[in-house]
Amino acid sequence: MNALTRDPFAKDQMTREDQMTREALTQALTDTPLDGRPEAEGAEAESLARRARRRVSDMLSEVLRQKTLARPIHCTGVGLHSGRKVTLTLAPAPVDSGITFVRTDIAGARTVLPALAGQVADSRLCTVLANPDSGVSVATIEHLMAALAAAGIDNAEVRLNGPEVPALDGSARPFLFLIDCAGTIEQEAPRQAIEVLRPVGVADGPASATLAPAESGLWLDFAIDFDSAAIGRQQFSLALDHGDDAAFRHQLAAARTFGLAEDIPRMRAAGLGLGGSLDNAVVVDGARVLNDGGLRFADEFVRHKMLDAIGDLSLAGAPLIGHYTGTRASHALNTRLVATLLASPDAWRRVPLTRARAAQADSRPAEGTGRAVA
Ligand SMILES: [Zn+2]
Repeated sequence: MNALTRDPFAKDQMTREDQMTREALTQALTDTPLDGRPEAEGAEAESLARRARRRVSDMLSEVLRQKTLARPIHCTGVGLHSGRKVTLTLAPAPVDSGITFVRTDIAGARTVLPALAGQVADSRLCTVLANPDSGVSVATIEHLMAALAAAGIDNAEVRLNGPEVPALDGSARPFLFLIDCAGTIEQEAPRQAIEVLRPVGVADGPASATLAPAESGLWLDFAIDFDSAAIGRQQFSLALDHGDDAAFRHQLAAARTFGLAEDIPRMRAAGLGLGGSLDNAVVVDGARVLNDGGLRFADEFVRHKMLDAIGDLSLAGAPLIGHYTGTRASHALNTRLVATLLASPDAWRRVPLTRARAAQADSRPAEGTGRAVA
């Protein structure tokens, strides 16, 4: 690990050069000229100060900046579960405000819901944020959250005039398209990441989800095992670069949500999937895919589950530096994993997100490492 990938703010690791770097970095970030500050005496101190200033300029060019949307953009669609028509607006938001959802059809401050694991109220089939006092909620946020996370959007306000994010085509691709149309801008604050420091895991019967440390970027491994012959066992691996959405865009964004034909009557009876159709979900009946045109990827199902996991993991509130492994992991398990991580102060720390720590440049799996192993 070199000087740029180490957390420059971790006091226990600080040498004298680190301390001077930190002072110089603080000065640089507050726009105080470096020249003219009192120097320590002696040639050795001067050389340390020179090295510290060089590290500061390296760091400043390396730390990623927070991003938001360049302008508001909106679309209209039907909620997968509610069946209700909803208009979604994505709007720019200030530095350090994160992603927040706002219900514009309900008056009052309690209609603002931060997209954080602590706000998750229900995750049976989709991820629902709710305010526990007012009961105001927003459902099926995960595909939009995955697109925002992959596009590196730190701050955005998501306005909805109904209870659920529109399903659109059941994937994250239309949301990525909206973000592309709006454009993004860098903001005047460094990006922060959450670095996983030790393994954390949750399980529910044969399903499990874990996070473990990684040098940089977010590694993902996902495995599913369905009785349905059309799905079967599938495994997929991907390295996400927090500074580049290419892997998500090409490998995951288009993967659609899916359901089994036999489950549809039960879901509808429970008031779920009311807006579901072959236009916004893959429907499987035994060995058959009922959608005209079939699948977008041979292993579209596991890719979609990984997309879901990225959306759920983004509820940590910052990009994760770590290695996620999901085995048949549901939204409920993923959001429990994030809550478990954040509730364990020794398992993570906040670090400035440098270019070097954003991506697994050296050992990125080649394109298309996912494979169906049915
Ligand atoms: Zn999904």
